[in-house]
This record gives sequence, structure tokens and C-alpha cells, in this order.
Amino acid sequence: MLFIWGNGGGNTFEGTIGTCKCEVCDKEVPFDATIHYRYFHFWYLFSFLTSRKYVYECSNCHNGYTVEASEFKKKFPKNHIPFIRKTGWLVCLILIASSVALAFKSAGEHTNQLQTYLTTPAVNDLYVVDFRQIENSGFTKGNNAFGVMKLEKIRENGDYYFLISSHAYTKKRGVEKLLKDPTSIKFADKEDGMTFTKQQLQSLKDSKIILNVVR
Ligand SMILES: [Zn+2]
Repeated sequence: MLFIWGNGGGNTFEGTIGTCKCEVCDKEVPFDATIHYRYFHFWYLFSFLTSRKYVYECSNCHNGYTVEASEFKKKFPKNHIPFIRKTGWLVCLILIASSVALAFKSAGEHTNQLQTYLTTPAVNDLYVVDFRQIENSGFTKGNNAFGVMKLEKIRENGDYYFLISSHAYTKKRGVEKLLKDPTSIKFADKEDGMTFTKQQLQSLKDSKIILNVVR
């Protein structure tokens, strides 16, 4: 990702304080009330002010003097610094807050969907499983942990019979990649399949051994 940041500056005209003698122009001229500001920006959008200088200056040659912020603000309480420069950090904050809210929402939806799939399993459902924690899975030793179980058959007594993938991966990511093309998953022989009751599936999910179900 390309990051762009930097500094910038600008002036705002806030009004006039009447005519004064300018030493440079050597005559009476209207004096402007001006704010000179600097800002830091990130992607031009997220920005905040780094300095403000309150100045009364000659409208002709811009020779002038700085005044206290409090004095300036008494005469010109509203400033005309662009909103995005003053409160661009707010944009950043809102974006962060909304992406966090979205992440929570989608995590919640994922949990609900997982629970629905577990409550009403369907043949060919694919389960992402941490096999190290399942006895007799054949993966209890070594680092390879994450694999797939496919619901092959719902038995007459209501138990669920699964085929076990012949490979497991060290990272959950490896399995997720595999699931993008489920036909590519190779399963071990039928004799090596495993049977679970609905209660067992629920407790495997509750102890985060079943991590995901893809239908
Ligand atoms: Zn002047």
C-alpha cells in the first residue's frame, strides 16, 4: 500500500479591523484579520492542524503583526479554516469506528451461521477442524493440524459420518485456500471416516476444535 502524507498550509481572511498606518506602504490602508495555519495530512483526507497564527496585516503588502488568539477570537469568533483541515482526523476516527462495527457484525453473523449449520447438518457440509485435538484422526502428532471433514452420511440412528481429508495444514489459512475449490480436496478411505453425534459436534464447536462449516 502506498502511503502519502505531508504538510500543508493556508491563510483565511476573517474580516477587517479598519484602516491603520502601514510602515511599509507608508500610508493608511485597510488591515485584514488573517489566520495563517499549518496542517499535517495523511492521504490528504485525514488531517489536523499543527499551528495557527492570528495576524492583523496590511491588505496591500501583508506586512503585519501577530496577536493573541484570545484577543483575535473576541472580534472574530468563527474561523474559516476548511472543515477537512480542522477535523479531518474525525473522518479517520469515523472510518475506524465503522470498520470495527462492521467486523463485529460480520463476526456475529458468522457465529450465527455456524450454529445454524451445526443444528441442521446437511450431507456434503465441509467442516474446518483442528485435528490435533481429535483422537484417532491420524493427525494428533506433528504440526499439521488444520484439515477438513466432509459430512458423508447421516446414519439411521441420527449420527453423522464424516470423511477425513487426507492432508492437514499447519495454518488455518491453508485449509481456507483449499475450500475455495472443494472438488480439489482429497479424502482418506471410507474405513478411516469418523462418526459423531450431534452433541459431540456441538461440544467440538464450543471448544473451538470445529472452526468453521462451509455449505
Ligand atoms: Zn503595507
